[in-house]
Amino acid sequence: MAPLARRLKNLGDESAFKVNDDIRRCEERGLEVIRLNLGEPDFDSAENINRAAIEELRAGNAHYTDPQGVLPLRESIARDVEEKRGVALSPERIVVTSGGKPPIGYALLTYLDPGDEVVYPSPGFPIYESWIHFVQAVPAPVFLKEEKNFRFEAADLEPLVTPRTKLVILNSPSNPTGGVLTRADLDAMAELLLKKAHPDFRVLSDEVYEEIIFEGRKHQSILSSPGMAGRTILLNSFSKTFAMTGWRLGYAALPTVEEARVFRQWNINTYSCTPPFIQMAGRAALENEENKAIVAAMRREFEQRRNAVVAALNRIQGLACATPAGAFYAFPNISGVCQNLGVSKAYDELPPEIKAKTSPATLFQLFALYRHGVATLDRRSFGLIGSEGQPYLRISTASNLDRLREGLKRIEAAARDAAGFEEFVAQGGPFL
Ligand code: PLP
Repeated sequence: MAPLARRLKNLGDESAFKVNDDIRRCEERGLEVIRLNLGEPDFDSAENINRAAIEELRAGNAHYTDPQGVLPLRESIARDVEEKRGVALSPERIVVTSGGKPPIGYALLTYLDPGDEVVYPSPGFPIYESWIHFVQAVPAPVFLKEEKNFRFEAADLEPLVTPRTKLVILNSPSNPTGGVLTRADLDAMAELLLKKAHPDFRVLSDEVYEEIIFEGRKHQSILSSPGMAGRTILLNSFSKTFAMTGWRLGYAALPTVEEARVFRQWNINTYSCTPPFIQMAGRAALENEENKAIVAAMRREFEQRRNAVVAALNRIQGLACATPAGAFYAFPNISGVCQNLGVSKAYDELPPEIKAKTSPATLFQLFALYRHGVATLDRRSFGLIGSEGQPYLRISTASNLDRLREGLKRIEAAARDAAGFEEFVAQGGPFL
């Protein structure tokens, strides 16, 4: 046994990375896998952004920077936030981070003591629940409902908010559902929180999909709601908007300079600073006018794919898919498929110790991958609490239409293959 600290038993994981091991195993067996599990745009970062980084490197801009982030980038971010959200923000309140993930951990470590309550969306980005457990806070998931198109409103939050609620996490557009919150939803939530939550509550507003939003909707942030500028930690990333996942660039905009100093201190205690040439490429991403058209084209492409994927999914017997309003995921209900293939029955018959680690949706996800060569993610990948019996899969549209069509064909074939499923289970399934 490795000599690990006790606190590690609380640290969670992200299946989006783990499923790659399964994919590799399938490929080693000669199966060609269509990856509908991907959480990143299939586009490359724009040439003007690449060029900016290269020029900075050539000019020798490759030393430590202010751990808070270089001022020119923080100024661009402040302008961008003000333009889109109508909230003036000084660069002193912005902390540049290596991707959008660090601010999640920083926020949980900064604001929560053991026993404090956190409201967060479920299904949601799994890192929220991981950190909630790690800091021994009390999870209060708000369950997103298919019948509401995975939107939720103040009335859904109401029963979860108490005077012990120190943090509320919002994520619109949502991973994994594509649900989008409206201005009215956000304003009503703000009013409720100001009335009912802990007097010092904060909202962590994860807006990394802000630009991937369809049918002309305008992205809305709780930062712009009355009374919320001094309460909201805006989390954003260059990963999705500018197809820069591997660059690792994001930021947090904090309610006060004092809190920004704490986030800066977390940077100092971990990786010191984000590489300066990457920060300057981020500045180019925000400042170069060319990128407006590039982002708009990406949005149009994701919308076309969404339309094609949702229509195709709804043609598959036993499967029903709501139409996501944003992000690049579809989140179909596969309960009919589970019934048709006998998945639920197979699940019921599993020994309790195996059952506890899986779900009907997981069994179908593994079957579709190992036998039909199509990778997706199950509902359990997006928050374990309350995931029991939830028959959903996440399907990413971050592949071109040909790949998507082939992937959907394989899902359909898997959804009809009762005999194959029976055999898969009889042989133990690779990870039952
Ligand atoms: N928040 C959400 C909702 C996400 O889906 C992701 C990435 O998948 C992140 C944050 C993290 O973004 P980054 O890759 O920039 O760390």
